[in-house]
Amino acid sequence: MYIVLLGPPGSGKGTQAGLLSKEFKIGHMSTGDILRDILKDKTHPLYEDVKVINQGMLISDELVTKVVRDSLSNPKFKQGVIFDGYPRTSAQAKALDKILSEEGKKLDFVLDLNVTEEVLLYRLLGRRVCPSCKKVFHVRQGITTCPDCGLELVQRADDNKETINKRFTEYKNKSLSLKEYYKNTTPYIELKIDQKDISAEEVERLIHIRLGEMQKDKAEG
Ligand SMILES: [Zn+2]
Repeated sequence: MYIVLLGPPGSGKGTQAGLLSKEFKIGHMSTGDILRDILKDKTHPLYEDVKVINQGMLISDELVTKVVRDSLSNPKFKQGVIFDGYPRTSAQAKALDKILSEEGKKLDFVLDLNVTEEVLLYRLLGRRVCPSCKKVFHVRQGITTCPDCGLELVQRADDNKETINKRFTEYKNKSLSLKEYYKNTTPYIELKIDQKDISAEEVERLIHIRLGEMQKDKAEG
């Protein structure tokens, strides 16, 4: 099974990708994690290409595709993949379709976590982290010190309204043509999330309802 997960920063993509990967027994491919791993390994064949990130530069669609193609040979992705943080552009999406079709495979569906900016602001502005173990909490939990380290929780510098708004707008603009492409080519599940304190479990439940509906439509169609 091959799934693409879309959603703005703070949408809970990583959490849902983890849950889906366990459930379908497929690998969770976080492109961000892969790139960070390559940057830690100077002997990696793609290290020289990827290190431009450290100079604050964006890497090209071609290079991201190369990294993904390279990672797909990892045994943990043999049964399938949930892609998290990739593709980001329609060019990358087309490249991914090509890679998969060369292997006789294709995407099963795209899951779009369409979280409203209001929900993102609530989540991210209320986020507090332990400066030592980096564990993440939310002010609604009523905790001010880390239960493990005893240190006072702090707010990350980039968890401010201006940065969140900037990232959200950037995501919205950049993902327009990507969403358009997928809506025309691939089974597409869009989950609108506008409830401020919705839990990860509730989102997971909603995903399952939509998946069930999709399978029913398929069986009937
Ligand atoms: Zn801690």
